[in-house]
Order: sequence, then C-alpha cells, then structure tokens
Amino acid sequence: MQRSGPAGCKARLIPSLTPGSMVESEDLIYQALSKALLAGELPPGTQLIETRVAAIFEVSRERVRKVLHRLGHERLIDLIPNKGAFVTDPTLSQAREIYEARRIVEGGVVARLAGRLTLTQIQTLRKHSELEAQALAAGDRARSIQLSGQFHQILAGFCNNAFVIRELQELISRTSMLVAFFEPDSASQCACDEHHEIVDAIQEGDMARASKMMHIHLSLIETRLQPNSTPRTLDSDDVLRRARDAVREPLAKPARKRK
Ligand SMILES: [Zn+2]
Repeated sequence: MQRSGPAGCKARLIPSLTPGSMVESEDLIYQALSKALLAGELPPGTQLIETRVAAIFEVSRERVRKVLHRLGHERLIDLIPNKGAFVTDPTLSQAREIYEARRIVEGGVVARLAGRLTLTQIQTLRKHSELEAQALAAGDRARSIQLSGQFHQILAGFCNNAFVIRELQELISRTSMLVAFFEPDSASQCACDEHHEIVDAIQEGDMARASKMMHIHLSLIETRLQPNSTPRTLDSDDVLRRARDAVREPLAKPARKRK
C-alpha cells in the first residue's frame, strides 16, 4: 500500500473546498474506502457505483473516480472497462500462486539485502515493526494489514531495483485482499515476531537464514488463510457510511483556532 499518510486535519469532505484541500479530501475518501476494503467489510464482487459513493461522501463523481483508480492500481478493487469498479474476488487457488511467487521473489530480496543495509535502514524496519505491533494490539485490522504489506514493500525498496519494486507491489497488494477475505480475524497477517527474525538475519548478514525465514514467514501466512471465513453480510452502503463517518469524526471537532 502506498503513501496513505495521514491526511491533513483541516480537510473536509464537502465540495466547497479550497484547491489546496481537494487533494486531502480525496485522500480521506481513499483512506475510508481502503480501510473498509482491507477490513473485509465489503463482500467480494460488490460493485462500487460512482454516483452512490459520491452521494454518500458528498463529493463529485470525478473525485470518486480518481479514488477508485488509485484503489484499482493497488489491486484492492477491479476496474472493468464499460462495467465499473468491483471489490476484488480472489480465490484460494490464486492465493497459492501468489504466495509461491512472493516466496521466490522475496527470498531473493532478503538474501540480496543481508549484510548490506545501513543501521538507519535497519532502524526503519524495526520502527515499522513496532507500528505493526501497536496496530495489532489496538485491534485495528485494516491498519495492521496495511502496515504488514508496507514492511515487505520497504524491503523491496531497499533493493533499489524498479522491476523488483513494481512486481512486489502488485503481489503484495493482491495478498492484502486475500488476507482481508480469507484470514480469520483472530489471526494476524504478519506476525510481528516473524518480521523481527527476518530483520535480525539481514542485520547479521546471514543470507541463507534471511531467505529461509522469509520463506517460512510467507508460508505461515498462507496456511493461516482459510476457505469460507465468516462471510460478511453487511449492507455496502452502511459500510461506506460508517467508513465516511470514521474519517469525518476527527474533523468534526477541529481545534478552534484563533478567530
Ligand atoms: Zn510479513
């Protein structure tokens, strides 16, 4: 998942925004939708109709369209020409292929990085793992899934290879929705301890162990996926309204600045 950094607190989800805050507004809609998607609250195959989403968020269709394109780029939804935007509908057999591909690529990534990262880079990874632990402890499943994916993207980024980064970005994005749908709520996508062990092996310069730990880690995630996890039967409009309100709430009581 890329750059879903915190949006400015001054953004509001109403159309009459200053040009500078329009981007923030899109970012907030993006945050709301991606959170609902990664929490697995929108059933696979659900169509996200532009006009309906625009009405719920009280923004223009154009703005919603931009957000949907971003979500499509990140593989959280499928954009089908002449049909529209749909929540991805992955299968467990696709999961097997995707995790196999990740083991092949990411086993190579960590072997490449072993003993080559600076202390600052190692610290970046460790700090990120702490954020994951905090999200997990707070029970924020969507954020936990996002952060877990980001950990792997940070590793890919350290390779400084555009092809590796691009391929992994797609694989990791696809994985996120698999986890959202097929992993029981009680399981954590990337157990933080497993990430720590991978970082330890990289820091120690142990290529074989780093690669092995990554293989084991990805295999463990795969085994946590289960067919027919509790099916979600929530009304998609209700889900979107709640997602909207969740991002609006922090904005509802702006720290009153001097008048
Ligand atoms: Zn992981």
